[in-house]
Amino acid sequence: MSVTTGAEHGPTAGESWTGLAACAGARSGRGSDPDAMFVQGAAQREARLVCFACEVRMECLVEAFETGMEFGVWGGLTERERRAMVRQAAGSTVPWRQRLLYDSELRTRFEQERLRAADGTARFPEKRLGAARRVLP
Ligand code: SF4
Repeated sequence: MSVTTGAEHGPTAGESWTGLAACAGARSGRGSDPDAMFVQGAAQREARLVCFACEVRMECLVEAFETGMEFGVWGGLTERERRAMVRQAAGSTVPWRQRLLYDSELRTRFEQERLRAADGTARFPEKRLGAARRVLP
């Protein structure tokens, strides 16, 4: 599994979804610091709020899983949350994109957080993903 640093996060040439990333540039209110999503502890709470309104959240999360991103907030999920999902998927041959698209709890959470971001009521922590949610085997 590859290890990345903040320097690799964010839009890069040739990756279409990254051009819509809420964490990149002025739309996030964070300037263009790609390290903004590579924070620890309480700072991850604020970082995650940027993801709630991101148009490419699912694409970002798929990228994180498919490329083995170990650090940082990706798709609004912390390293800890992603590690739990990796453990849950151990032994599965279902591609991450397919797995995530069929994860109804994840999609519901994304929609709820998007709505909270839209009306200004988004707060961390939002509900953590349940361990027993229905996912592909
Ligand atoms: S989901 Fe979050 S980390 Fe991913 S591109 Fe959007 S704002 Fe950035």
